[in-house]
Amino acid sequence: MKHSPLTYRVIPRDPAGHLFAVTLTVPRPDPQGQVLTLPVWIPGSYLVREFAKNIVSMAARDARGPISLTKVDKSTWRAPRCEGALEVAIEVYAWDLSVRTAHLDETHGFFNGTSLFLAVQGQEHTPHRVVIEPPDHPRCAGWQLATTLPRLTGGEWDFGTFEAPDYDALVDHPVELGTFQVVSLTACGVPHHLVLTGRVELDAERMSADLQKICEHQIRFFGEPAPMDRYLFLTTVVHNGYGGLEHRSSTALICDRSAMPKPGMEAPTEGYRGFLGLCSHEYFHTWNVKRIKPAAFTPYDLTRENHTTLLWAFEGLTSYYDDLALVRSGTISEASYLELLGRTLTSVWRVPGRFKQSVADASFDAWTKFYRQDENAANALISYYTKGSVAGLALDLELRRRTHDRVSLDDLMRALWQRHGQTGVGVPEDGIEVLASELCGADLSDFFDELIRGTADPALGELLAHMGLRFHLRPAQSPDDKGGAPSGTAIEQLRRKGELGAKVVVQDSGAKLTEVILGGAAWRAGLAAGDVVVAVNGLRVVGRELIDRVAEAGPGKSLTLHAFRRDELMTFSLTPAAPSETTVWLEVDPDDAEGAARRKAWLGV
Ligand code: ZN
Repeated sequence: MKHSPLTYRVIPRDPAGHLFAVTLTVPRPDPQGQVLTLPVWIPGSYLVREFAKNIVSMAARDARGPISLTKVDKSTWRAPRCEGALEVAIEVYAWDLSVRTAHLDETHGFFNGTSLFLAVQGQEHTPHRVVIEPPDHPRCAGWQLATTLPRLTGGEWDFGTFEAPDYDALVDHPVELGTFQVVSLTACGVPHHLVLTGRVELDAERMSADLQKICEHQIRFFGEPAPMDRYLFLTTVVHNGYGGLEHRSSTALICDRSAMPKPGMEAPTEGYRGFLGLCSHEYFHTWNVKRIKPAAFTPYDLTRENHTTLLWAFEGLTSYYDDLALVRSGTISEASYLELLGRTLTSVWRVPGRFKQSVADASFDAWTKFYRQDENAANALISYYTKGSVAGLALDLELRRRTHDRVSLDDLMRALWQRHGQTGVGVPEDGIEVLASELCGADLSDFFDELIRGTADPALGELLAHMGLRFHLRPAQSPDDKGGAPSGTAIEQLRRKGELGAKVVVQDSGAKLTEVILGGAAWRAGLAAGDVVVAVNGLRVVGRELIDRVAEAGPGKSLTLHAFRRDELMTFSLTPAAPSETTVWLEVDPDDAEGAARRKAWLGV
């Protein structure tokens, strides 16, 4: 006799109250007492988020009637011995407009399985069926559904029944409900759709054409056929937001309305370039982290932190390739790419924490440090995204230089795909280093000791010169200067400006310091994050006026600052510092023909 599978019935029951109702039926519960757990984190976002806190009600029954569940820990329940099937009904509060949990109102619904689906201990490897019903609410008439969960009933975009082969797959296909716009494209024969939620007008043809170029480039980079038979970009468009989370055949994104391409746009705007970079990033994860995985994630343990020193490779190398795929696919120009690269380098060079934390440590401690940043983050931490991406650039150029352009990071990625992605064997903690050394036929432990396990800056001046590029450092022109381009103001003039060494926001008619850089002028004056500076030399300053006043004074002048620490007024003597030269831009050397040829092979333009 064939038993029916585990089944979850999902109803967006109360859009105004933001409640999903989910009923789990376990046809054959564990006779010893079925244990149920909800994940505490979602893969791709390395923070314990305690999804169980959003369960607002829970009721269980078996063939005889209602039964009580015993709570074992913060996200684990145990049922008593059941007669027949076990049924557990929960209500989940869904009011987090992010890619990581769930959201429901009268405008749309979105959920990740990690927020809604209790895991049935001992049956995680059996098929998991999901029935998703439309909301019974007049303002939700006409809603459709978008997901890559394998479908059993209904047509494309219909509510219906779905089935995942196991729990791991079940929670790796987010679901969007609502009246969304769809932009379609085919990449290497695979149907792709961009599903847009939120009020938005865009040039759909442009979007479709650009995404197609990026997706085809990446599929061909790793080799056809693509590892998925369809792909969805589930995108929530808001006034102000940015983020993405990768899944095996889809991604959930949040972006600014202003990032959407408008009809008549020629070169991508900065916002649109950022959106394409985000799509490219999450899409690259289809291979790098969703299939090529660290051994620490095979399988994921969703009940606790999963530590690995390799996030610099899974996030950092993905960050290196996201923008690189834009230029290689012809979506942006070489000049635009070099600007992006200069900005990434600037974001690393400006962070003194890179001398305190290696990217291997940043990876391991992501859970407690990167995802829990405070006012001291810039002094103590480095991002495994940005520094990992710079390490990827350095490793790529190093491999090319050592092997006379025979081997590059591209070969490393493809070898990882063949040995780990296609086999399902996790990458051991030393796997990237061992493989890189093998491919280039040389011991790369010095490189990994310095750049990955150590805190050295890579010798990029030298490595980029090999590509016909000059690496420049200069002072920032203003707090908005992201780098990537030469200064519009003469460097000598910039060097005459004083530097505060702190980040500032407007608060209480003053300038609140949100971050104080170790060793900078503010730090030497004794100012602390949280202080609200109200006057410089007896005159009021509000917000960034403080930065301007310090800049005008110039290095070495003495200034008297009045600031509130909590509610106590304090006086500080501040001597502006000379500006740090940490803004990076790259320049093409017009006379280096060999470098230009190598750069063409690298960037594909
Ligand atoms: Zn990522």
